[in-house]
Amino acid sequence: MRDCTKFYIDGQWVDPVSEDTRPVENPATEETIGHVSFGTKADVDKAVKAARRAFESFSQTSREERLTLLRAIQAEIENRKEELATAVSDEMGAPMSLANGPHVGLLAGHCATAIEILERFEFERQDGPTLHVWEPIGVVGMITPWNWPLNQIACKVFPALATGNTMILKPSEIAPFNAYIFAEIMDAAGIPAGVFNLVNGDGPGVGEAISGHPDIDMVSFTGSTRAGVLIAKNAADTVKRVAQELGGKSPNIVLDDSAFTKSVMRGTTAMMGNSGQTCTAPSRMLVPHARMEEAKAAAKEAAEGVIPGDPKGNAAIGPVVSRQQWDKIQGLIEKGIEEGATLVAGGPGNAIRIANDTEYGLASAITGEDIETARSLAKRIRAGRVAINGGYDMNAAFGGYKKSGNGREWGEFGFHDFLEVKAVMGHS
Ligand code: NAD
Repeated sequence: MRDCTKFYIDGQWVDPVSEDTRPVENPATEETIGHVSFGTKADVDKAVKAARRAFESFSQTSREERLTLLRAIQAEIENRKEELATAVSDEMGAPMSLANGPHVGLLAGHCATAIEILERFEFERQDGPTLHVWEPIGVVGMITPWNWPLNQIACKVFPALATGNTMILKPSEIAPFNAYIFAEIMDAAGIPAGVFNLVNGDGPGVGEAISGHPDIDMVSFTGSTRAGVLIAKNAADTVKRVAQELGGKSPNIVLDDSAFTKSVMRGTTAMMGNSGQTCTAPSRMLVPHARMEEAKAAAKEAAEGVIPGDPKGNAAIGPVVSRQQWDKIQGLIEKGIEEGATLVAGGPGNAIRIANDTEYGLASAITGEDIETARSLAKRIRAGRVAINGGYDMNAAFGGYKKSGNGREWGEFGFHDFLEVKAVMGHS
């Protein structure tokens, strides 16, 4: 039994202001495997006070001081890798191979990337008589989901730290274990009191207290478009910056070439990774009408090769995160069948219209041998990411067009999310 009943505020593990403890379930067994405390506005107030106080000094630290801190965090992540992977597997059902691999790997990867960028990032630029200075925005509230829980924490916390901000993290109440270990890592690495704070809880209890807080300068949110809209509305009165990484319904354009079967199979398994719970999953496959039957057969073969099972065994995928999510997916499958779901495209020009015919624009994929065609299609897709043949890069910008959000995370783009620009005129 793992109990996450304290909050990390001002460099201390403290009790919540009022007691409200809820069970955490393992989706593979549906057994209670621990507890998490749900906080309130009073806990958020304490954390904001600590973060505001810490901002005074942390915002003035040198690049070298912040590099030293990030390197200490990197070393502590290394010490706790196995524990982090077990936590992610237990609370959201990821197979151990996936938890040890991409889940923990993305945490370590974002830390290494932040260090590498901080070593060379230009915080000042002389433009004629004016000095432009990039300064930390202030106290940042961070609200994260459960589907890639460590990744989503990492791509907010590390750039925010690297650029001199202080923060309050509210991770998902469905998968709180990994964030608790993450806070222990920050503590062990010697993070100054108040720079990083953890308050657990749900959206209405803690999330709303963060988004509406008058002394928080920015909310960085990852999650559903539904919650993202509520957060932006609640934040509006305080004119804080709101960065939103929201949902997606990403197209995968499969080119009509000799790699067709391989491309369909690759697209199908890419969709199924992390039990199909990845925000960038290529969930709308577009194939030429004439090759539909071939595509169905290849997709069936690929899907049947992905064996679900016990996350602690050798299964390729584990369960989805909860019974509620399972029921929702079953309903969507039934609705799709009722609607006679098949996607048809007459040619690449048609394909682009269908690809862009969505209110989302988070990601997209193009698969096939003809790289020139893929490059030219990439220019016409309205989405924040286009992955040609599974292309991947830790430094590539991550974020959405349209209702998939605004702002950009990952790499150097993530640094700019957490910075203000000051123009010092008459500087020379
Ligand atoms: P969710 O929106 O239900 O919850 C996300 C977080 O927001 C949780 O911490 C939750 O407690 C909090 N929250 C909920 N309502 C809130 C409110 N009114 N005010 C403040 N906070 C609130 O999403 P989820 O089910 O945890 O995550 C899955 C969703 O996240 C999917 O839609 C997925 O596409 C999206 N997602 C997007 C990205 C991206 O980078 N664009 C990445 C991963 C997941």
